[in-house]
Amino acid sequence: MILIVGGAGYIGSHLNKEINKKGIETVIFDNLSYGHRDFVKWGTFEKGDLGNIDDIRNVFKKYPIEAVMHFAAFTYVGESVEDPQKYYTNNVKNTLNLLQVMLEENVKYFVFSSTCATYGNPVEIPITENHPQNPINPYGKGKLMVETVLKDYSDAYGLKYASLRYFNAAGADPESEVGELHNPETHLIPLILDVAAGRREDIKIFGTDYDTPDGTCIRDYIHVTDLAEAHILALEYLQNSGESDFFNLGNGNGFSVKEVIETAEEVTGKNIKAVEAERRAGDPPILVGSSDKAKEKLNWKPKYDELSTIIETAWNWHKKLK
Ligand code: UDP
Repeated sequence: MILIVGGAGYIGSHLNKEINKKGIETVIFDNLSYGHRDFVKWGTFEKGDLGNIDDIRNVFKKYPIEAVMHFAAFTYVGESVEDPQKYYTNNVKNTLNLLQVMLEENVKYFVFSSTCATYGNPVEIPITENHPQNPINPYGKGKLMVETVLKDYSDAYGLKYASLRYFNAAGADPESEVGELHNPETHLIPLILDVAAGRREDIKIFGTDYDTPDGTCIRDYIHVTDLAEAHILALEYLQNSGESDFFNLGNGNGFSVKEVIETAEEVTGKNIKAVEAERRAGDPPILVGSSDKAKEKLNWKPKYDELSTIIETAWNWHKKLK
């Protein structure tokens, strides 16, 4: 059985669906602080909090857990600057609790949700796994701290980990059973779709004077179902004696904010009112990753890499929301 920590959230719920499709049993552990109970449509749900080590121990005692995938983290970069304690406590300290129980129970396999935010401002595009890691906010710093812990635990205790550094997760399950639902929502694509659905007046474009072809920021949007597939491959890789390692997961193609808005207009058939606004603090002009390592070592083949497909799956889910 696989323990999915944070399996009621956006990426964890998509992974839970895809891994169950392959006949692998799951237990979902989530405190529902940001996750949604009705996103847990597969496997067994156990409500619990990583801050309470006995909650974790109870789950490991109750189920034959062979591996852990860890998605439970706070992800608002701006909030991490204002309230770093919240981020270091949940994203670092609580992850150490989870690893502690894994060691107690002799569970060796760990797939970790890391982030391209561990790289900080890019000095080279595309970003490979060897790019220097100089995170510029507590969110990215906390994720890098966990990566450091994983290396040391692997050397000392034989933990087998794959740390997956996501670029911009986007889109939704092509069958619309789960999707993206954050509160508050800060991400570009769901905000644009709120405008398309008439739930929001306009989308603010944060900065139009960047050194990019159309002046707006370029990001690497990767479909959430492709991300889910990479987790399954990473686990198989570890179980087949693959070395613990770090992998970027991105599309390899960058799209500007304006391109995303234009594509969303085509996909939805709606006019999307865009308003030019000030730059958002801490946004690098371009973030595009190379995922060649995941393709080569994990045999990962993203299926939904067209921006229009990413937005279409997101829209099919989004337009059902109340
Ligand atoms: N963005 C924007 N308006 C918004 C939200 C985001 O222009 O209302 C831009 C943001 O500045 C960035 C890109 O869209 O360049 C993607 O932002 P998002 O918050 O989705 O992801 P991030 O790259 O911050 O992880």
